[in-house]
Amino acid sequence: MATSTDTIAAIATAPGAAGVGVVRVSGPAVPDIAQTFLGGPARSRHAHFVAFRDADGELIDRGLLLYFAAPASYTGEHVLELQGHGSPVLLDSLLRRCCGLGARLARPGEFTERAFLNGKLDLAQAEAVADLIAARSRASARAALQSMEGVFSQRVEALLQALIALRVHIEAAIDFPEEEIDFLADPAITSQLQTLREALTALLQEARRGLRLNDGLRVAIIGRPNVGKSSLLNALAGSERAIVTPIAGTTRDVLRESLVLDGIALELADTAGLRDTEDEVEREGVRRAQGELQRADVAVLVTDDAHADADLGLFDGLPAGTERLVLVNKIDLAQGAPRQLQRDGTHWLWMSAKTGAGLDAVRERLRQMAGAGGGEGAFSARRRHVLALEATGRHLDQAADVLQSVRAGELAAEELRQAQHVLGEITGAYSSDDLLGAIFSSFCIGK
Ligand code: GDP
Repeated sequence: MATSTDTIAAIATAPGAAGVGVVRVSGPAVPDIAQTFLGGPARSRHAHFVAFRDADGELIDRGLLLYFAAPASYTGEHVLELQGHGSPVLLDSLLRRCCGLGARLARPGEFTERAFLNGKLDLAQAEAVADLIAARSRASARAALQSMEGVFSQRVEALLQALIALRVHIEAAIDFPEEEIDFLADPAITSQLQTLREALTALLQEARRGLRLNDGLRVAIIGRPNVGKSSLLNALAGSERAIVTPIAGTTRDVLRESLVLDGIALELADTAGLRDTEDEVEREGVRRAQGELQRADVAVLVTDDAHADADLGLFDGLPAGTERLVLVNKIDLAQGAPRQLQRDGTHWLWMSAKTGAGLDAVRERLRQMAGAGGGEGAFSARRRHVLALEATGRHLDQAADVLQSVRAGELAAEELRQAQHVLGEITGAYSSDDLLGAIFSSFCIGK
């Protein structure tokens, strides 16, 4: 267990929070600091009502002193929580007093970083703490909580153990070369690898959903000019953010809208009507629209009954992983009713941005795509986790490939070693200082 030699302190409540404010302190100087305020030793996990005084004995505030003796604390070190009135001025004085008694100001995320270094949390759990604080919807908060509780980490850990077992198996075969060929042909090896690959694919799918819950769904709205893209955006957002006019080509730039829809965060981008144009400004809009499409999780094609089939061509060039949704707009013009169907795995919905008919179904579809309905165990994930799982999958595929084609045990073992390494980066079993720095510096101070 890593133990820090210095003591850190920070205000742990949001600035200006009404009511209670908290100064948090962690490190070896904590028992002495507590003793100074109390005039005697602090009892661990006991609330002491004390007078906080400065170095001259002048009263700063009265409040509660909570002491958590190491290792039974958030950071795994001695921790002190001083609760006073929520005034920034008082809290600042209290923080200064702690610094006068041997603490230094904590960097952003430093408490959680220490918790990680002391084995209280793994890296994915630590990231979930930040995600929980930043959560913009109930669904994403619930998912972050699951990850903080270790639901995601346990799944990664189980895969890691299976991977290690398989690797040991294959490496043992390499050590006995005369038996290697037969051993590597053993169907049990291939089937173990297959099982591992399937478990990884399942976890990757859930992690992708967790990423959407965490980051919001990136939706790019595409379609010919005047088909009703801006109107749809306005109807969903309930505002006049995009300018709706009947003149073709008015949506020249990419408009963004961030909204929380039934507890799911959505990022909408309304793109310029994709079409060949002579107009320089509009051409730039079309270029941006195409860039937007490359980044999106979901491409929503807005069309109408007359042009639906022809407009499907606008999906051309979409990255393979991007989900599609077709919205047939303006059903009010033909006195049509909202309906939906699935065609070649793509959802089609009929609606009217003008009357609002069918909009509820659109909302529900977007909610599903955003990861809602993932059930009780849905956990949050970050992009780096998804990338690590994808990389693990590629190494597993390579391992299966070399086993099958050339029966090369060493090559397979090397692929599995690399797979183990990238997978282990998720929970921090393997981590670089750069990675830790990047993760914890994005936290807020006091966490
Ligand atoms: P965009 O160019 O695709 O963004 O299209 P707009 O949202 O600017 O809409 C173009 C025109 O179609 C405007 O006059 C809208 O009022 C109209 N419009 C949009 N949606 C509907 C709809 O569902 N029904 C009818 N009747 N008109 C619509």
